[in-house]
Amino acid sequence: MLKINEHYLKLQASYLFSDIAKRVTAFQADHPEREVIKLGIGDVTQPLPSACIAAFHKAIDEMATAGGFRGYGPEQGYEFLRQAIAEHDFQARGADIQADEVFVSDGAKCDTGNIQELFAGDAKIAIPDPVYPVYLDTNVMAGRTGDFQDGRYRGIVYLESTRANNYVPDLPKEPVDLIYLCFPNNPTGSTITREQLKVWVDFARDAKALILFDAAYEAFIRDPSLPHSIFEIKGAREVAIEFRSYSKSAGFTGTRCAYTVVPKECVAHDSAGAKQAIHPLWNRRHCTKFNGVSYPVQRAAEAVYSSEGRAQCTALIDGYLANAKIIRQAMNELGYHTVGGDNAPYVWIEAKGDSWAFFDLLLNKAGVVCTPGAGFGKCGQGYIRLSAFNSEANVVKAMARIREALA
Ligand code: PLP
Repeated sequence: MLKINEHYLKLQASYLFSDIAKRVTAFQADHPEREVIKLGIGDVTQPLPSACIAAFHKAIDEMATAGGFRGYGPEQGYEFLRQAIAEHDFQARGADIQADEVFVSDGAKCDTGNIQELFAGDAKIAIPDPVYPVYLDTNVMAGRTGDFQDGRYRGIVYLESTRANNYVPDLPKEPVDLIYLCFPNNPTGSTITREQLKVWVDFARDAKALILFDAAYEAFIRDPSLPHSIFEIKGAREVAIEFRSYSKSAGFTGTRCAYTVVPKECVAHDSAGAKQAIHPLWNRRHCTKFNGVSYPVQRAAEAVYSSEGRAQCTALIDGYLANAKIIRQAMNELGYHTVGGDNAPYVWIEAKGDSWAFFDLLLNKAGVVCTPGAGFGKCGQGYIRLSAFNSEANVVKAMARIREALA
């Protein structure tokens, strides 16, 4: 008799986006004349940069020729892309990362989800609250938690991000082995300073812990004092892995390309207490379970680093950041406390009440869809997230409607 992995049964069904969709459908059925503006989802809306499209087309044309055709590529990614990443995303910022420490993949979702399988089943996990749910659910699947009780899984150390700590969690008070951090943050849009990140790196070094640093929104950082990579922090090479993605930086959510950086010095320990390098383990996992990102997609990603590509990506993100500013200003003027939106595409808004009640208010009175913060964890209750991923015209219209509804 085949038994299933019963840890899957502990998972809480994610009703968040289906509940949102149900409420929106019901509203539209009742008010077919009202146009709904969606500022809820975290998906990009603008087309791919033309430099990426040109490189994509060219690579496809190469594939149509006998000389240019390529079959399986290196699982870790083509050298041209790994090299460009190491130079532009790290070395240019003073972070010592080499091309062979970069693993190209089809998404930061898969990478942040898959990485936990390298670590022991009894590893103590620290996870932010509110959180991008992948970190939590993949550890539940792996059996690192107890049951779900009172809004939380037993056995997890929750790192609370609240107004009191300006949405940057304090160090845990109990021992932990694996720490998830995400900055600029989804869902709060908060950022971490160099000094604050150094505190986490030092903590991980002392505790022989490892930080999994999700920098999927790094490209939205405009404040020059903020770190783009954890590897800009001294001592991080031994205790951190970083995840990046072209999804939000270059509009690749439907094209799929991302990467994970595992420095060669990065270690965990075996049961005898001996250091074990993580790089060969991740390399082994990657080669065993993944067959590489397609050649045209990697060429399109490489084009992000060309001079035209960089300018186009900057313009793309500037557009979203301008939207975020409009959202944040409007909510502040209406008397709501907000965070995010200046170095991130998300604005996190204190709802002055229940998350879902505020969601319903915005939908019914303004025809605007947000994401209720309660869907991201216990600390998200009482907040909503508005996303800047939409056209400027829609954002302006949405905020005018919200002003009218809430004024
Ligand atoms: N990490 C965070 C924090 C995200 O918000 C997202 C997507 O919303 C991802 C990772 C996933 O990125 P990708 O599209 O590369 O899978």
